[in-house]
Amino acid sequence: MPDLLANIGRTPLVPLRQIAAGLPVPVLVKCEHMNPGGSVKDRIALAIVDDAEARDVLHPGDTLVEATAGNTGVGLALVAAVRGYRLVCVMPEKMSVDKRTVLRSLGARVEVVPNAPPTSPDNFRNVAERMAEQHGWFNTDQFRNPANALVHEQTTGPEIVEQTLGRIGAFVAGVGTGGTLTGVGRCLRAKVPHARVVLADPVGSALADWIETGRLGLDGSYQVEGIGGSTVPENLDRQVVDEAMRVTDEESFAMARRLVREEGLLVGGSAGTNVVAALRLAARGGLDGPVVTVLPDSWDRYRAQPWMQAWGQPAC
Ligand code: PMP
Repeated sequence: MPDLLANIGRTPLVPLRQIAAGLPVPVLVKCEHMNPGGSVKDRIALAIVDDAEARDVLHPGDTLVEATAGNTGVGLALVAAVRGYRLVCVMPEKMSVDKRTVLRSLGARVEVVPNAPPTSPDNFRNVAERMAEQHGWFNTDQFRNPANALVHEQTTGPEIVEQTLGRIGAFVAGVGTGGTLTGVGRCLRAKVPHARVVLADPVGSALADWIETGRLGLDGSYQVEGIGGSTVPENLDRQVVDEAMRVTDEESFAMARRLVREEGLLVGGSAGTNVVAALRLAARGGLDGPVVTVLPDSWDRYRAQPWMQAWGQPAC
């Protein structure tokens, strides 16, 4: 009988019936929050481990170390449990306390490091790399590992093409590692070449400027987790991206709330970012087919964050 990991992927694609009503084209959302670990990152966790096992560089009992915003850690923890690995997660302190608790509950060791820039030795990626070298652990390295973008090119993208019967006007997504946007983008370039591929970037991230001009923008702060950044991840391929859209924290969190309330989609903040950009694209017109986006993760990861706590306050 297939194990739990066989149930990663093949997520539903559903229309936004209320929020996108009246727009020239439908907005379709891929429910990655319905993966077993609650996020799109289950796909890459399994793909990275499968790839390393196939290359004979990883063996049961080994330790995986990952620099993660949390979701890849959860995906890796599931894979580690089923396949018999130990897991160490290095997380910037900006990430929600819920994510730390979840990872520790799953048996991972969690190292919280300061929100340091990529040049700093305290930066989460640098800490993970150092730990891998020092202890002989396997650095899953989602930012650089090509198995990340490849699994989206081979699964997420083809699933979207199949679920839309090949009718896609645009695909839009935020970039953390770039795996989703690059992988789905490459698949669409091959199979639906007229589809626009669009980056949804938090205001404060430097990536939208890079897509538009080839130069990184100013590095600001923002609260949405898992997307945007001050450096270009190796897994982001600028060749497949047509344009960028900027979305504020306020817009993202307000949309996440609407997705929960009006569509019953129990998602986190970056889903809000993606849907704000998707609605803008759909409203702009000129597209030959629906706008497709992803809902990267589940709301249960953000309960302790002030923006979600505010949902429980009585309306004034
Ligand atoms: N949203 C959330 C909540 C995430 O954790 C991530 C991954 N860091 C993304 C979106 C972006 O996905 P990707 O790494 O494929 O660019």
